[in-house]
Amino acid sequence: MTAIEKHTINVTAIRSQFPILSRNINGKPLVYLDNGATTQKPQRVIDAITQYYANENANIHRGVHTLSQLGTDAYEATREKVRAFIGAKSTHEIIFTKGTTDSINLVAATFGRQNIQAGESILISAMEHHSNIVPWQMLCEEKGAKLNVIPINDKGEIIYSEYLKLLETKPKLLSVVYVSNALGTINPIKEMIADAHSFGVPVLVDGAQAIQHLAVDVQDLDADFFVFSGHKMYGPTGVGILFGKEVLLNAMPPYQGGGDMIKTVSFAKTEYNDLPFKFEAGTPNIEACICLGKAIDFLNEIGLEAIAEYEHSLLTYATEKLQNIEGIQFVGTATEKSSVISFNLEGIHPYDVGVILDKMGIAVRTGHHCTQPLMAFFQIPGTVRASFACYNKFEEVDKLVEGLTKVKKMFA
Ligand code: PMP
Repeated sequence: MTAIEKHTINVTAIRSQFPILSRNINGKPLVYLDNGATTQKPQRVIDAITQYYANENANIHRGVHTLSQLGTDAYEATREKVRAFIGAKSTHEIIFTKGTTDSINLVAATFGRQNIQAGESILISAMEHHSNIVPWQMLCEEKGAKLNVIPINDKGEIIYSEYLKLLETKPKLLSVVYVSNALGTINPIKEMIADAHSFGVPVLVDGAQAIQHLAVDVQDLDADFFVFSGHKMYGPTGVGILFGKEVLLNAMPPYQGGGDMIKTVSFAKTEYNDLPFKFEAGTPNIEACICLGKAIDFLNEIGLEAIAEYEHSLLTYATEKLQNIEGIQFVGTATEKSSVISFNLEGIHPYDVGVILDKMGIAVRTGHHCTQPLMAFFQIPGTVRASFACYNKFEEVDKLVEGLTKVKKMFA
């Protein structure tokens, strides 16, 4: 059976839910292959934003009037939806943030400041996004601590024996990506967490590129913290999630001070609110939080297992087709990969490839993908990255291949 015949989901029906996918770009039907940067939004998410402002807008948690109650109920119902989606024990463990970056900064500024002292270390990997490097670097600078990095091999996989050696140095935290945005590598996260725990090391998982592609169960993974962004999982921008084990979140100091995160305030002393509100100071992005729930409904209707299987067929098909292009160099060839293909065409700058593909309506990402240290490891300035979502078609892979063939001709 070919990859095309094997897939189980109804891509036409899925695509019909995304109005943007039927538009033209530069006179050509849009081929959107930049899903690693952000996914498009289904109609129900777009509608929910209008619906919220047209019918339900009010501030939450504070009002006795009907609209405020409605908003609060919808906001808290979404928290429960997120809890169920990632298999957390309690809604106390689900904190609404602005996104992955915000979630990591929250943990660095609270758990990090509280637990990491001079001379101690934090462990990350060589394939981290800048947002899982810089907050830890800033913390290490502040504390006089050290940032250690798990090395990777030429395929873009963690060198596990080196990881185990680094765990022996007893870092105060391992903060590691589940799925690499630049390479597509799926790290053996469950095994990594189990090994970290055997050394008493807590683990933060950057799930920004996992949550929309793989079924996640934070209890099964035994993750201490798990973070992701709404906009990469068919939801709106400006909302993300920090999952943290209740025992850890309870022990952490608050991140920001302000309304909602308090129980009582006097000039002498403030008593902080209980979880999850302790970490949600000020008016949140209410409409985005509520609309994230609609994105979760979308994902649940198709099912993450079906999505993973379909996207894997797309990846296999695209890899087979692209490798026939002469002079293509794949960057990231891990055995376990998500639906991301990073590559370069010999002698052609990735930026030029991206600009020419855009003229054909094909949107890909070019550059360092916010992973400059990773690009330095591969000794390249950047890559062209095609990242697939559940609405991408096999024909779109064919269009990418055609487009790249044209690019090559232009530079011949
Ligand atoms: N980590 C990974 C692996 C990512 O792909 C991204 C987004 N490209 C981030 C973190 C940061 O996410 P955000 O910009 O939504 O905060």
